[in-house]
Amino acid sequence: MPGEFDFITWIRSQQSKSPLVQLRAGDDLAVLKWDPNDLLLVGVDQVLDGIHFDSKIHAPRAIGRKVMNRNLSDCAAMACVPAAAVATCALPLAGLADPFAYAKELYLGMKEAADPFNCPLVGGDTASWNNPLAVTVTILGRSAGIPPITRSGAKVGDWIYVTGPLGGSILGRHMTFHPRLELARQFASTIHITSMIDISDGLSRDLRHICQQSNVGAIVDADKIPIHEDARKLSQQDHLAPLDHALHDGEDHELLFTSANPEVPAICVGQIVEGSSIQLNTKLKSVPLEPKAWEHRL
Ligand SMILES: [Mg+2]
Repeated sequence: MPGEFDFITWIRSQQSKSPLVQLRAGDDLAVLKWDPNDLLLVGVDQVLDGIHFDSKIHAPRAIGRKVMNRNLSDCAAMACVPAAAVATCALPLAGLADPFAYAKELYLGMKEAADPFNCPLVGGDTASWNNPLAVTVTILGRSAGIPPITRSGAKVGDWIYVTGPLGGSILGRHMTFHPRLELARQFASTIHITSMIDISDGLSRDLRHICQQSNVGAIVDADKIPIHEDARKLSQQDHLAPLDHALHDGEDHELLFTSANPEVPAICVGQIVEGSSIQLNTKLKSVPLEPKAWEHRL
């Protein structure tokens, strides 16, 4: 039966090269060469069986892709360039026919997601336990000439933008989304973005993060919210309005950002205002936009 060391040997044979990487996986630590002009950004994100995926439904390749893409999406949210990642996985002792093959598929999923962005996996750790699968990725990013964009810079009068249609990701997109890294760098280098976040918890909650951290309020125009086809499909099943799915569902991983520029090629959904309240304007009325109790549904 192959063990952890066979897995490390196999990983070494798979690794992507990067000019940053001086010493790759297989030693106690990886070694990266860092440009002194770059800021180092660090984030970590985990996915758990039964919470973020269902191992009875989702293949290990898709699970690996998802956990890496969540981390890459956080890089997009700050407009940084992913530089390298390390991963851990806790494999269940029971229930896997071939744990070695399963771990390889997890790794290949992560690599598949990271390779297009030249982000090598430079280290990690695997273990087995009497619990469901848990996978964690820590990502390192570099500022690469663009100051990191935070959640705290939104100003009164800024326009609020999103980069794509929202809602219903639970029908499958939560496993297959593409992190908006290129778009984030393109916008951040061409227009003045004052704040940004990736939509992981739903527009209503993520806009609240921006407003709270920027000490501002917002008005959102219900007619301008881009509703994904999946939100409409889901509403046929659960009879909630498609708009509610677009406003409150999580894991779209589109970008939500603010800018004083009124002509950004993204979807303008509202405007930053004074105060602390977030209002949703419809044709007939204006109501507070409260985040709905968010639960992670599979
Ligand atoms: Mg995020």
